[in-house]
Amino acid sequence: MKKISLIIPCYNEEESLPLFYREVTGVMEGLGREYELIFVNDGSKDDTLLALKKMAERDGHVIYLSFSRNFGKEAAMYAGFCNAQGDYVAVMDADMQDPPALLPRMLEMLESGEYDSVATRRVSRTHEPPVRSWFARKFYRIMNRISDAEIVDGARDFRLMKRDMVDAIVSMSEYNRFSKGIFGWIGFRTCWLPYENVERAAGETKWSFWKLFRYAVNGVISFSEAPLNIASWSGIFMTVCSCFMLLLIVFRRLLFGDPVAGWASTICVIIFIGGIQLFCLGIMGQYIAKTYMETKHRPHYIVAETNGRDVIRCK
Ligand code: UDP
Ligand code: MG
Repeated sequence: MKKISLIIPCYNEEESLPLFYREVTGVMEGLGREYELIFVNDGSKDDTLLALKKMAERDGHVIYLSFSRNFGKEAAMYAGFCNAQGDYVAVMDADMQDPPALLPRMLEMLESGEYDSVATRRVSRTHEPPVRSWFARKFYRIMNRISDAEIVDGARDFRLMKRDMVDAIVSMSEYNRFSKGIFGWIGFRTCWLPYENVERAAGETKWSFWKLFRYAVNGVISFSEAPLNIASWSGIFMTVCSCFMLLLIVFRRLLFGDPVAGWASTICVIIFIGGIQLFCLGIMGQYIAKTYMETKHRPHYIVAETNGRDVIRCK
């Protein structure tokens, strides 16, 4: 019988955890499979860890890994993947926005079809600020054009995967992680399950607009070289333009004896070029900064406390 591992990253989720645990346990017991619930406490400032410890005392299915500080959802998911022992593995949010009720259908689809994973996709973005939705949609469109990782609009991290796929994810040990890109990049056959957006059960979102924006930029840099190409092409474009301008000015001087006037226009051009140069330098700087972080080979996360099992420390 195949074992199922659920990975649940938790950051300040003490309010949602009891609801989530009740619901997910009901669903998993209903499936009648062997399972484990891997809760990753991502340096919560509330009593999430206490709640997890109580759950682990009562229920042998519960495994918790508690980080020494907040390392971010990506690190929490990676810790889960490294420690999951199931044949099928899924990541789920603790706030019930990834409805546990979908699990039986996902399992059925995974086992009946020729798929390596069943992924969920939100078809609506109700209860979300319109500005955020707009940026999200633009991000997916741009991202799909400029990177070779297929990223589906509205795709959640909630997907049930077979062991091979999980091993591939664990083998991608990059420091700057962008899971949506990683899932797309490794390939495998994925079946999409659409569902209506669900509101958070309790607590509030941990993602501010700027945190999401930085995450999106990280995604672009991790999975595309397009910004660097834009820098190169804009340099070439500006050089060609300036050659034409030079010729024009020389002709005007020779044919019409027209002196070149204007201090203001010269300054404008200098500032314009300076701006473009700094912008391109900034793009290069972003890539160099990411490379710098990768070369340090720091651990993705540090586990301060866990129940039982040896912590597999990933590079
Ligand atoms: N999360 C985490 N570390 C963080 C931020 C979030 O582990 O630094 C977890 C959080 O507890 C939740 C999931 O990631 O289980 C998704 O977060 P959230 O619901 O705040 O994001 P949203 O659904 O609003 O995009
Ligand atoms: Mg959420």
